[in-house]
Amino acid sequence: MPTKDRLYRTDAIILRRSDFGEADRLLTVFSSEFGKLRLLAKGVRKTTSRKAGHVELFMLSHMLVAKGRTWDIISQAEIVEAYRDLREDLDKTSHAYYLAELVDRFTEEHDPNVPLFELLALTLVQLSHTDDPFLVLRYFEMHLLSLTGFQPQLRFCVACQEALEPVDNNYFHFADGGTLCPTHGEVRAHAEVIPLAVLKVLRYLQTQPWEKVAGLQLTPATRQQVEALLLGYITFVLERQLKSVDFLRKLRR
Ligand SMILES: [Zn+2]
Repeated sequence: MPTKDRLYRTDAIILRRSDFGEADRLLTVFSSEFGKLRLLAKGVRKTTSRKAGHVELFMLSHMLVAKGRTWDIISQAEIVEAYRDLREDLDKTSHAYYLAELVDRFTEEHDPNVPLFELLALTLVQLSHTDDPFLVLRYFEMHLLSLTGFQPQLRFCVACQEALEPVDNNYFHFADGGTLCPTHGEVRAHAEVIPLAVLKVLRYLQTQPWEKVAGLQLTPATRQQVEALLLGYITFVLERQLKSVDFLRKLRR
């Protein structure tokens, strides 16, 4: 048996899993206390495993973990929230995969982020209860960006620092991380026009509590533009991160 100081407890959401060896699974989880962890779940592919039903994808489980040489090992696991709908409804499953993938890509191992853990847990609840996940997903994306240090500027021009006028020809620039006034946006390569309706929704997502965001009524065009802008910005941030990691690796060689 492992000694006491080699054991720790944590609540964790299962982000991804892969088969390992004969009967084991390697899990990537996001925990409240320690951030992202990779943990070995031994024997969970055996039909007799008591742990198996407690470490399914997207579940929130309370875990007792033993420190190991390569990977820490899940010694016990007990469901806190099963989020059953997320595994039984195909649309919900694909959205849950998307959330899990974002958290995985935006975080490093052993880097705790309690607000992000709480955001993910809350979003999984909302996702399992809604038939229109649009606002749930956009709210998550916006707050994920804020909680990982990529909050976009939406009030001021990032070039002249002037407050934006309520007009339809302000701009958004991915590399600048925010909005530009018409004067500076027009001359900035790759800046995209951002209509006022879209800007207002993004600000609302950024500043208002979920209870108010949930009541938003949007036109199909605005929905499409809000989704495209957030996805474009997230993709840009991730690609830049990956490139900087590649760059560091090359330098080290
Ligand atoms: Zn400006």
